[in-house]
Amino acid sequence: MGPEASATELLAALASGATSALALTEAALARIRAVDGHLGAWLRTDEASALETAARIDRRRELGQPLGPLAGLPVGVKDMICTRGMETTASSRILEGFVPPYDATVVERLRAADAIVLGKLAMDEFAMGSSSERSLRGPVRNPWDLERVPGGSSGGSAVALASGTCPLTLGTDTGGSIRQPAAFCGVAGLKPTYGRVSRQGVIAYASSLDQVGPMARSVRDLALLLQVIAGHDPRDATSLPDPVPDYQAVLDRPVDGLRVGVPAEYFQEGLDPAVELAVRAAEDTLRGEGAVLVPVSLPHTRYAIAAYYLIATAEASSNLARYDGVRYGHRTAEPTGDIDTLYSRTRAEGFGPEVKRRIILGTFALSSGYYDAYYLRAQKVRTLVRRDFAQAFERCDVICGPTSPVGPWRIGERSGDPLAMYLTDIYTVPANLAGLPCLSVPCGVDSSGMPVGLQLIGPPLGEATLLGAAHAFERATGHAARRPPEVHP
Ligand code: GLN
Repeated sequence: MGPEASATELLAALASGATSALALTEAALARIRAVDGHLGAWLRTDEASALETAARIDRRRELGQPLGPLAGLPVGVKDMICTRGMETTASSRILEGFVPPYDATVVERLRAADAIVLGKLAMDEFAMGSSSERSLRGPVRNPWDLERVPGGSSGGSAVALASGTCPLTLGTDTGGSIRQPAAFCGVAGLKPTYGRVSRQGVIAYASSLDQVGPMARSVRDLALLLQVIAGHDPRDATSLPDPVPDYQAVLDRPVDGLRVGVPAEYFQEGLDPAVELAVRAAEDTLRGEGAVLVPVSLPHTRYAIAAYYLIATAEASSNLARYDGVRYGHRTAEPTGDIDTLYSRTRAEGFGPEVKRRIILGTFALSSGYYDAYYLRAQKVRTLVRRDFAQAFERCDVICGPTSPVGPWRIGERSGDPLAMYLTDIYTVPANLAGLPCLSVPCGVDSSGMPVGLQLIGPPLGEATLLGAAHAFERATGHAARRPPEVHP
């Protein structure tokens, strides 16, 4: 059994001695070498430290010592998340060579659970994008069709799973970056409630929206990883103090009588007919499992993209001010003249075009004279979006709809038209604006045979309900078992 098996199966095999952490880690590294050259999901691995950790875990198991809940499982980490001693770049030139002196809290928790941190996963630069075409080493490719994008920005985290190189990965989601690549690659991904998972040590994009979340090939595996990373962290001021429920214990709860809200606004103009068909079939499946479908309305959805791209860029323009070539990362080779020249040359060389565009947009939105017209207004729209959800959740327990209005597009197809790319985030950004938990699970294919994702959105801290509903859906269908064709060298 290798890294293409589920985390749950692998834990059983490790416990019974059918495999060892070392054998599994070696197999994962071998698989990365065999297939990832064509995909580009892995920016870097740390073979020596992964193998050493694996051997240490095997030894502790032999000695009968207690082990953590992920003992011996190789895990991939999005390059937005700091790893001690392992370069962390956010897929940006400006952070090339940056080796964090500490682990993010989520990585500390992985290590404390005896997981093996295998390496860092590719993404759109600073998590800005929906296609993973703007990674440090060129576009990441979708294993279902190498000419198509894997989605973004956590494209590497989704591709690493879909190509069977490891059983669990971490992503980050500011406006859809866990759910949309999960949908595009036929895997599962969950964005927790804002504040449920610590962001200490996670590179900031838009701080009022960012969340870290689990990605896996099954809902049970999602629950397993969420259990490890969720919980209060005194080092993150936005971290929630609420106790963490046992996510795995509630997975098999029947969905009988569960009220599933279907928002009219998630099935309008711009939705690909094949995607709609797959999502409608998913609704039927949920109904067949005993759920009750309830029509709901989220009338401010149409303003969500505009509000999101003002708030996210405004916060990004502020968060990215720290990359100045003085303390860490890239510094221009020609720091001639004054300090301003050092800053501007470093930033001109270090940031890619999309990041620059967002810094300019965000700086404009925050500038005096325009602040009220753009940023403040966007915040008011945000309140309305949040209110829409609160009203909808008076009538239902979860909301269901498509994760993305379209399937994976061809590499290059939207990269010349930023607005066309932004518009594809229409169904994912509202949950970020409202801080709500949400997930994506595979629910079929589009007209090109590419994976389609079903999105479920829950009320604050409704992760357990989401996982239960997604698990019932997954069990009732065969979608999660589909794997991409073997990626040939
Ligand atoms: N596609 C969205 C953006 O570009 C969301 C990205 C994300 O969630 N990190 O901002």
